[in-house]
Amino acid sequence: MALQIDLGALRANYRALAALGPSARAGGVVKADGYGLGAGLVAQALAQEGVSDFFVALASEAGAVRAAVGPGPRIFVLSGHMAGADLGDAIPVLNSPEQYFRDRAIRPGQPFAIQLDTGMNRLGFEPGEWAALKAEILTAGPALVMSHLACADEPDHPMNPRQLAAFREMTEGVTVPRSFAATGGILLGTEYHFDLLRPGVGLYGGMPFADARPVVRLSLPVIQTRDVAPGETAGYSNTWTAERACRIATVAAGYADGLHRTLSSDGQRPRIDLFAGDVRCPIVGRVSMDLITVDVSALAEIPAELDLICPQQPVDAVAEAMGTIGYEVLTGLGRRYSRSAV
Ligand SMILES: *Cc1c(COP(=O)(O)O)cnc(C)c1O
Repeated sequence: MALQIDLGALRANYRALAALGPSARAGGVVKADGYGLGAGLVAQALAQEGVSDFFVALASEAGAVRAAVGPGPRIFVLSGHMAGADLGDAIPVLNSPEQYFRDRAIRPGQPFAIQLDTGMNRLGFEPGEWAALKAEILTAGPALVMSHLACADEPDHPMNPRQLAAFREMTEGVTVPRSFAATGGILLGTEYHFDLLRPGVGLYGGMPFADARPVVRLSLPVIQTRDVAPGETAGYSNTWTAERACRIATVAAGYADGLHRTLSSDGQRPRIDLFAGDVRCPIVGRVSMDLITVDVSALAEIPAELDLICPQQPVDAVAEAMGTIGYEVLTGLGRRYSRSAV
């Protein structure tokens, strides 16, 4: 099982997103093991593009990024300073007065960042908490003051200007760098950009960055093929019955690898295809833990591998068939795939 990561495409996506915000710096979000693709691999490629600000979710994720990018770049930890966290040389994004006082007691004089809650109600100082501590915190000199948009993938959503106004108000008079936009926010326009951009999913070829170059190819090895006669079934629970003579291939991947059982087909409505070049081979029957059966009747020759994620069927098409978003498909891709750069 091979997960190929096109680092040239990743770097091109970075340059394209950064070019949308020429007056801001662009960092890179590499949380959840670089959105499932391998944090070391993608962080190193981004560092070669000159990225000097990386974001991970947890302190435990910082080590792999540091090993890949060397001593220079900053690594921000979005979950902040949790009790017992070993931050190493990473910079916590402090999300509450409790985190702020814990961090200052343990790491006096060391760099920190601040997250403000502008309405998402997930992480960050509430307006009242910030008002009470703003002067003290700004005197301590945060490296960054940031917030996060809840609805940036919907450009016309009224939440966007509402959060923008809240962020402007809360950061009035703040002279340290400000950061507000992830991929969706970058696409909303320059008034959302401030000083540091935080693109994640767009780097990896996912929506809402519609112009992204595909980064991921997922190829699944064919283990066995067989001919089935009309009326025969395939897979658990006999959910699929051959209507005509056809050829079935079994490939080595399944729901234990993040390919949800929702990709199963009852034969009425194929949910998704595997690809041999441009030829579509529909999934038939149930997706098993480690195996998927595919109708390869359209192929004259059976290749060694069939592609599930490829330019013909990008990650968001697979996500739609699973009833989810590209982010979840990428971060759910299992540990059994070998990840390699191309
Ligand atoms: C995940 C995350 C990002 C990156 O978001 P994308 O939509 O993947 O670009 C940026 N900032 C914060 C706070 C995040 O949690």
